[in-house]
Amino acid sequence: MSTLVQDDALTAFADELRGPLLTPGMEAYEAARRVFNGMIDRHPALIAQCLGASDVKVAVDYARAHDLPVAIRGGGHNVAGHGTCDGGVLIDFSRMRTARVDVEAQTVRADPGCTWTDFDTETAAEGLATTGGTVGSTGIGGLTLGGGLGFLMGAYGLTCDNLLSADLVTADGKLLTVSDRANPDLFWGIRGGGGNFGVVTSFEYRLHPIDTLLAGLVLYPADSAREALKLFRATSMESPDELSCAFAMITLPDGPKVAAIAACFSGPISDGERLVAPLRSLGPPVDDGIRPMRYPEVQRTFAEIPFGLHNYWKGHLIREMADDVVDATMEAFETMTSEHAAILIEAPHGAVHRVPPESTAFGQRDARFNASALAIWEPSEDGDRHVAWTRRYADAVLPFASGGYINYLGDDASADDVRAAYGAARFQRLTELKTKYDPTNLFRFNQNIKPAAAE
Ligand SMILES: Cc1cc2nc3c(=O)[nH]c(=O)nc-3n(C[C@H](O)[C@H](O)[C@H](O)COP(=O)(O)OP(=O)(O)OC[C@H]3O[C@@H](n4cnc5c(N)ncnc54)[C@H](O)[C@@H]3O)c2cc1C
Repeated sequence: MSTLVQDDALTAFADELRGPLLTPGMEAYEAARRVFNGMIDRHPALIAQCLGASDVKVAVDYARAHDLPVAIRGGGHNVAGHGTCDGGVLIDFSRMRTARVDVEAQTVRADPGCTWTDFDTETAAEGLATTGGTVGSTGIGGLTLGGGLGFLMGAYGLTCDNLLSADLVTADGKLLTVSDRANPDLFWGIRGGGGNFGVVTSFEYRLHPIDTLLAGLVLYPADSAREALKLFRATSMESPDELSCAFAMITLPDGPKVAAIAACFSGPISDGERLVAPLRSLGPPVDDGIRPMRYPEVQRTFAEIPFGLHNYWKGHLIREMADDVVDATMEAFETMTSEHAAILIEAPHGAVHRVPPESTAFGQRDARFNASALAIWEPSEDGDRHVAWTRRYADAVLPFASGGYINYLGDDASADDVRAAYGAARFQRLTELKTKYDPTNLFRFNQNIKPAAAE
């Protein structure tokens, strides 16, 4: 009898959904359960490929009624694999990828399945942009809800600082609009608190006029890497809001390891030429790609990383880049375990630091750098030495850390790691919010903030 009831309920669920409901054994299910990180091999009980908020409500109601947890997939990029799950209901937004720009208001309303390429293409067509992820296939969903570091952050803040409102389905199946005026407690929580509080079915962002920028990569050979890192450190500490830099150590497709300084200047090009000139001053670079370009091209500065490779990322937000961090970074560069691996250091600054820390859930506003080792390797290889390399770097940087960036935490992040990413007071407030809106922890596939009752 219970099987019959279950089957009836499942049939009703499939009937109510406008989008497809995928179950194990279906061909489409196999592709839909996969995420960016090829290490993640999880099997949701059901995958609801939602087409709108009503589908999300149906999926949440079904999951709650059948005591199944809910996972949410935006772009599927989360390295910890939170964009899928074993045994729960996966709400998959891959069929919702439209962004509609309001040119006059300089805002955009974006679907939760948009990637940054989807988003940037629509906004750039109107000469507008906002801070977004630097790799086009990354989803706007997870990135926004966890904070959002990008090339425009010095001028305009984190991605979540540009969020104006969101539509969100809560654990009890209600559709709420959240903004400064409507449900402000939730609006605070979703700007940094990740997917803990509900399923966002639509994001509204503030946009900024962006035309041609001065941007690109300067690549230096391995024997200049230390000097390049110090140059990046000095430039990042002094740069005006309009100049955002990032630093990467990578292996080029044709062999050599290089240190890369990425620059993006959003002010007048002539001012930018003067500001980026020092970045070109370390002797002959392997390549100097800094030049005027449009924003979508800026967003292709870093190469796409293919889906399916194995990934283990670890790092920390740090308040200063002491010489010991430089030494640790050099040691990690010299011992990189794979040609896909990278060291990435981002530099939050300017507008990021001016947003009052208590006004959003994002932790560690005062951090100056986000230093991470990204171990990436072929699926056929054993991962142990790659993981060990990443952990060695993260351990070396730890004494200078204020916590991890929530969007880069791996699936081995502990409850203490999540608490540290927010700090004690903010974590307490997030816990109260979680207890109010998701007391049974229906949304637990994320950097989880447990409701008080479930502790
Ligand atoms: C190649 C690569 C490049 C990256 N570059 C950057 C970068 O430049 N800047 C930066 O800040 N981060 C960057 N990241 C990290 C990125 O922010 C996180 O991986 C983020 O989780 C990706 O979002 P997603 O929607 O693709 O993830 P998914 O795996 O689809 O989702 C991750 C989690 O986000 C939550 N979530 C997603 N959508 C929703 C929704 N609609 N409602 C509620 N919760 C939701 C859920 O908890 C979900 O489990 C990068 C990651 C990768 C792999």
